[in-house]
Amino acid sequence: VVSILINILSSYIRIKYTGNLAQVLLYELRVKVFSQFQRLSLNFYTEEKSGRLLTRMTSDIEALSNLFTEGLINLAVQGVTLLLISAALIYLNVELALVLLILVIPVMVIATLKFKDYSDKGYLIVRDKIAEVMAHLQENLAGYNTVIAANRRFRNVLAHINIVDSYKKSNNKMSLAQHGYDAGTSFVNILGQVVVLLYGYHLIQENKLSIGELIAFQLFLSNFFTPLQSLVQLYGSFQSANAAVKKLSDLFSENIDVPEKQDAKELKDFSGNIKFTNVSFYYKKDMPILKNINFEIRAGESVAFVGPTGAGKSTIAKLMTRFYDPQAGAITVDGSDLRDITFNSLRKHIAVVPQEAFLFYGSIRSNLAFSNPEISDEEILGACKMMGIENLINKQKGGLDAVLSERGSSLSAGERQLLALARAFISKPKLLILDEATSNIDLASEAKIEKALDLVLEGCSSIIIAHRLSTALRADRIAFIKHGEIVEYGSHEELLKNQGAYAEFFETWESHGGV
Ligand code: ADP
Repeated sequence: VVSILINILSSYIRIKYTGNLAQVLLYELRVKVFSQFQRLSLNFYTEEKSGRLLTRMTSDIEALSNLFTEGLINLAVQGVTLLLISAALIYLNVELALVLLILVIPVMVIATLKFKDYSDKGYLIVRDKIAEVMAHLQENLAGYNTVIAANRRFRNVLAHINIVDSYKKSNNKMSLAQHGYDAGTSFVNILGQVVVLLYGYHLIQENKLSIGELIAFQLFLSNFFTPLQSLVQLYGSFQSANAAVKKLSDLFSENIDVPEKQDAKELKDFSGNIKFTNVSFYYKKDMPILKNINFEIRAGESVAFVGPTGAGKSTIAKLMTRFYDPQAGAITVDGSDLRDITFNSLRKHIAVVPQEAFLFYGSIRSNLAFSNPEISDEEILGACKMMGIENLINKQKGGLDAVLSERGSSLSAGERQLLALARAFISKPKLLILDEATSNIDLASEAKIEKALDLVLEGCSSIIIAHRLSTALRADRIAFIKHGEIVEYGSHEELLKNQGAYAEFFETWESHGGV
């Protein structure tokens, strides 16, 4: 009765303690994984599918969870039980115990090593396959409009069946291996009992063992194999968790391509002076994208980058926000190299309005105050009014509280861009980067946009990338980029006089009605 009570109490404490420990560890791990995702450079996200990254957060951490909650403590309990029972067996009869151990241990070691070899690779494949399933799922959810429009639903289901099937097969392979290993060890268990009976009978005949001792030995023996069996099963979940640990540690050891210097300085009171000096850049070696770029933007000035698609215009914007570092040359703000400045203090002063504005699921307020969460509702509404987009907000049920759907898919592309411009305006940047930010806006809204742009551009330096030359024309100077080089640079009038590439570009644009 006492031992039963002790058992109940210790089980209770064990479950409570391990449960808590596992939750704390998983919590820490989840926060660490998310923080690492926030720290990694843009390059990492270009190379890696987001669905695969989701598995790091879900199924990989889940695999560890199984080990943390039950596995580790079981390992200790079963390991100690095994040692104590072995000691008891040796105490009962040394000869019989040694025969048993000599038979069991080598077979178990060989079987475990074989299983380890196989499962090391197998579980990594399982983790990769589930990551593929998630990646395919995530990509198809994100691109569901395209999927439906291109009538790909049926084919996509087939593609998903193939991917899930491949995951199922790799999982089946591992369960087969695990069952084989379990069955093998069960066989050793039975074989061990048979050997003990036969050898015990032989010892009884030689009067080295009594029948009572043999029965006691047999009883202990079942307690010897139970923890052994548990350890074998635990080994499977350990191997699975090990593969997850490998994937997670790969994530943590991922290089941060654009690191912040230890002694990086704060960029205080940025006035908006920007200078690119002999900047060259490539994404992939031997494929130069920008070649020897030189230009200067003084506080309050604007420069538009114009040129054919793929010339490198957006890349300039990405270098400016330090998503990437140039391989040669330097970019300075108020005379300080970008690499010597903290990310926070640099990006605090910059607002980027991309072609496809990203709106998050949540209220219009949280989307507009995205980079400046402390701002009051009055200030937000005031800014929207100044920009002439208060109708857009009032039209939504709930005003600023209206909840936007994921990626703002309940709004038109033009409306999303207007909100993105308002978001930039509210953050009061010293440098504004418009990366094709007006391309989705219809001509009817153009007047509204002109007004909004005037306001946003007032008092800050700006880099304007625009196909629509009416937007580019607002800039003080225009840089015409071709094959990663600035081939012409000057005011609109100067460049027209030049009769060069820009003049030709402008003529074509005008002949198409200026849209
Ligand atoms: P633009 O804005 O002038 O249309 P970009 O600056 O976006 O052009 O791109 C310039 C070139 O760099 C293109 O040829 C594009 O294919 C390439 N590029 C852009 N992003 C990447 C990337 N992450 N990895 C490799 N190449 C890229």
